[in-house]
Parts: sequence; structure tokens; C-alpha cells
Amino acid sequence: MGAGFTGLVAALTLARGGASVIVVDMVEPGFGASGRNGGQVIPGLKDDPDTLDRVFGEATTAFAGGTADLVFSLIDELGIDCDPVRGGWIQASVKHLHLPRLESRMAQWRARGAAVEMLDAAGMAAATGGRGFVGGWIDRRGGSVHPLAYARGLARAALDAGAEIFRDAEAVSITRSKDGWVLGFANGGRLTADQVVIATNGYTGRLWPGLKATVIPANSIQVATAPLPEDLRARILPGRPVVSDSRRIANYFRIGPEGRLMMGGRGAFR
Ligand SMILES: Cc1cc2nc3c(=O)[nH]c(=O)nc-3n(C[C@H](O)[C@H](O)[C@H](O)COP(=O)(O)OP(=O)(O)OC[C@H]3O[C@@H](n4cnc5c(N)ncnc54)[C@H](O)[C@@H]3O)c2cc1C
Repeated sequence: MGAGFTGLVAALTLARGGASVIVVDMVEPGFGASGRNGGQVIPGLKDDPDTLDRVFGEATTAFAGGTADLVFSLIDELGIDCDPVRGGWIQASVKHLHLPRLESRMAQWRARGAAVEMLDAAGMAAATGGRGFVGGWIDRRGGSVHPLAYARGLARAALDAGAEIFRDAEAVSITRSKDGWVLGFANGGRLTADQVVIATNGYTGRLWPGLKATVIPANSIQVATAPLPEDLRARILPGRPVVSDSRRIANYFRIGPEGRLMMGGRGAFR
């Protein structure tokens, strides 16, 4: 339930494994965050690798470190036309106070064999074209994609693997019967399944007890400039890394395939 990255990769994997798979989305594949995000492919999770090891175990850390490899290899293998660029991910800092934390995170990934390095203020200016950063680190596993094109490519691959996808199919109830889980839809339709993957993300309603309470609404914005003139394109992010900064509420930016500077950030929590 939900045709974003989560639902679509689950469907693709299960269909390839021989399961009979149906994906439903209340609008269409990629309608949610998957089709309208910043397009930054960033390896790892929010926590540092040492913390991931301690809390979840080394397998989770290895999985988290391999997420960018997974995305780019899926794109390659499936031939998804989504402007993949593997220019690395930079975590940039405008505050000296943040640098020890970034250095520690970088060192933890380096100890696990990742292609990472610290950048000083001059290195940041060269890598970004901006003079406001006191330092940062680059993780060369990262990069960018056109997120909606990637989601649609995953949907196509899931169909090719034998999954069925239904759009305009809003699930409004899940109940248990002797035949399995029964999904009820807003249009009156029903579907019975042995297992249900709920991948409704921020759009999660009251279908499953307690799930909605795990979602915290937050404002989020993105803007894109008109395509930049060639001289600016050459000066801003010349190696085409993607950047997010080290603030608790991060800002992020990249140059898109048409030469637009695309920037985003979070706003107030509601
Ligand atoms: C503004 C923004 C920028 C971001 N930038 C980045 C970034 O640069 N890099 C990054 O890695 N991550 C980024 N993220 C996060 C990333 O986009 C999400 O983590 C990811 O897309 C989640 O995928 P998903 O499949 O779990 O959910 P979604 O893509 O949100 O999919 C959920 C789907 O469920 C469907 N649905 C919901 N309820 C029902 C129902 N009852 N019945 C049927 N269908 C239903 C919706 O229509 C939707 O299509 C960003 C997120 C936002 C919002």
C-alpha cells in the first residue's frame, strides 16, 4: 500500500522472488515524497555508524552504508532514465562548533572503508563555489537522481517483474478475515491479501492503530532557479556533488540536469 520508493522496491523485490504482488496508491506512483524530494542520494542514516552498530547491529550499518550503491546499481541494472549523477554528497558546516562532529562521522565511515574525506574552508569554497562554509566532509558514495523519474522507473520494473499497480486506489480500511487481510477502498472495492506492506509514509491515515501518531508534520520547501548561465554553472558545485548543511534543520542544494540551482529546507513544525 503506497507506491513510493518503499512500496515500489518492496513490490519489485517480492515479484522477482515469485510472490503475487499488487501495489495500490491513492493517487499514482511517485505522488508522495518519492516524486518530489531533493533528489539527493545520501548513504547512511541519521545516526553515526558507531551508534548504528551499538543500537541496531553491524548488519544495519553495512546496509545503511550501501544504500547509495544500491540505488545507483538498480538504476544501472534496470536502465532507469533518471539523470543519475555520482558526484558525492557534502555535509557542509557554517559553524566551527559542528566540525568535530562531522570529523568523527567521517572517520567512522572511513574506518569502514568508505571513500570519504574532510574539506577545509578552502576545499569547501573550491567544491561549492560558496565562501560561507568553514569546513565539511565529502562522501563520494553519494550523488543525485531525478526522483520522480526514478520512482516511475521502479514502477515500470515492478510491472515487468509481474506486479500489478493500481492508481486512484485509496485504501480506507484493513480488516482480518479467515482468508487473510481485507483492504477496503474509497471507491467501494476490496482486495484480499496474505500479507500487507503499509508504505504510506507522511500520508498515513488511521488505517492502522498507532501508526499515524508516529508521523510528525513539518513544513518543507524547495525552490529552483531558472537555468543558470554557463559561467555560473561552471563555478557552483563544479564536480556536481549534492550538499546539505550540518544545522539541525538542514538546508540542501544541488545543480539539476538543466543547470538550475535547486535548494530546499525545512520550516517550522506544526
Ligand atoms: C521535501 C522533501 C525533500 C526530501 N529530500 C530528500 C532527499 O534529497 N534525499 C532523500 O534521500 N530523501 C529525501 N526526502 C525523503 C524521501 O523523499 C522519503 O523518505 C521517501 O520518498 C519516502 O518514500 P516512501 O515510499 O516511504 O513514501 P512516499 O513516497 O511518500 O509514498 C507514500 C505513498 O503512499 C500513498 N498512500 C498514502 N496513503 C494511502 C492510502 N490510504 N491508500 C493508498 N495509497 C496511499 C501516497 O499516495 C504516496 O504515493 C525528502 C522528503 C521531502 C518531503
